[in-house]
Amino acid sequence: MAFYISARCPECGAPARHPEGAMTFKCPFCASVLRVKDEGTFLKYIIPARVSRAEAPMAVKRAALEAKVDGLHAIRKIITFYKPFWYCKGMLFFACADEKIGSPPPPNTDDNNPPSPHVFTAAIRDTERTANVIAKTWSHTFAANPGLAGPLRTLGIQSEVLTLEPYDSEQYKETPVAPITLDRAAAEKTAMSAALNNVNMDRNRYSYSNLSFIGEKYFIIYYPVLATVCEGPGGYTTVLLDGINGYFIAANPGKNIIAESGAWEHSASRFSIITHRCPNCGHDLEPGGFNIVFYCRSCFSLWLLEGGDYRRIPKKALKSKTEQRTVYIPFWRFTLELENGASGERYRTVGELAKLVKGGDLYLRAIPPGNPIVFHLPALTTSNATAALKLTARICGAQKEIPFDDMEEFPYGNFQGASLTLDEARQMLPVVAFSVIGRTDRKTVDFYNTMNVRDTSAELVWYPFEERGTMLIDQFLGFNISKRGMSAEAY
Ligand SMILES: [Zn+2]
Ligand SMILES: [Zn+2]
Repeated sequence: MAFYISARCPECGAPARHPEGAMTFKCPFCASVLRVKDEGTFLKYIIPARVSRAEAPMAVKRAALEAKVDGLHAIRKIITFYKPFWYCKGMLFFACADEKIGSPPPPNTDDNNPPSPHVFTAAIRDTERTANVIAKTWSHTFAANPGLAGPLRTLGIQSEVLTLEPYDSEQYKETPVAPITLDRAAAEKTAMSAALNNVNMDRNRYSYSNLSFIGEKYFIIYYPVLATVCEGPGGYTTVLLDGINGYFIAANPGKNIIAESGAWEHSASRFSIITHRCPNCGHDLEPGGFNIVFYCRSCFSLWLLEGGDYRRIPKKALKSKTEQRTVYIPFWRFTLELENGASGERYRTVGELAKLVKGGDLYLRAIPPGNPIVFHLPALTTSNATAALKLTARICGAQKEIPFDDMEEFPYGNFQGASLTLDEARQMLPVVAFSVIGRTDRKTVDFYNTMNVRDTSAELVWYPFEERGTMLIDQFLGFNISKRGMSAEAY
């Protein structure tokens, strides 16, 4: 799903249309690089009503015929109000091992929630046990005030073709905007249960299962609803109509719309756009979707955007084997230990990891056993979670020693900004550890269930890939990945 937001450029006043959720972008008119000012809360957008009050009587007439609602003689009042929806998007990883004998077959796919094209299932089959990871990039909308205009449950696909406007509580002060009754914590729970439904998985079927939603973004979208209070022989009826297409939603007895959800108070929510410049030299930084790391081409400094502030970070890259066509992809580099929560046993070195990993004695025999366990995770919220996980599992599984480069600057055009925060990358560690270990025996499955993954150090490093057409080639391990799958812009 992709929405577009129309906002005003603070530099030239022109409409600066940009993809939903993008934190930085370029004004198409004056080329200023702009940033949505982070107020430390989720972004809110609004879809302005398309059905006008003048069109409401016709829409009600049609609804009366089609939905067979009787007794709508005269329209007494028309109010356009806005119902809030949560929109969430992120990378979904469902890991499971050891299917229980006699498990029921998976339920049918939910037609309203079709799987994304990027579904990937890596199945490792032993004699009777299985280990799986399903990875996908997933988005979902659901009501943030389910009690209001109840039958309107999801925005579905129609909102894709609509342009959203930033919601600013000052600007929309006079607009009846319904309160959010499902708060952010409750929204996460709802999203997780919808996600399980979407991957078509029943956790009870497995001895071990883990669902994680990584790099997830939550937004609020206010959707227009027309409430028309009609009077007839039987009293008042309030007809609710979709504010975009005029379709019938519901007919409720009575005339009190506001009472449905209590007091409608506006919580302050400011939307502002500012310029995005290097704190060191004032040069424009490069814009890029959900990026949180920016490289200044003018003074060669590197910046991490955190809570609305720019923090300078060191430039660290792994040494490229070729001079040309090198593309640098950001990775979080963790030094870590795995702990068995039940026995207290810890795995800190490559030698210890080799004992844990399926075929580890063979695969890791060339790596010095005393080396610490180092995991590299792409610092990207990518449109292809499958590619990201495959890549990660291969790099982490190899435990190859890769030297750092002492370069002064990233070559032009070949640097990619990071979009996955450290906390989000940390949350991804267990599913990566699971994918690397790959064992499905009972003892290991028990281990997964109590496994703690702890990092003792974490830093951003840029990993060199050789660019060949639409592919990127890992220079150390020799495998290919699609450039598009590693691009944060396509997310
Ligand atoms: Zn402009
Ligand atoms: Zn600079």
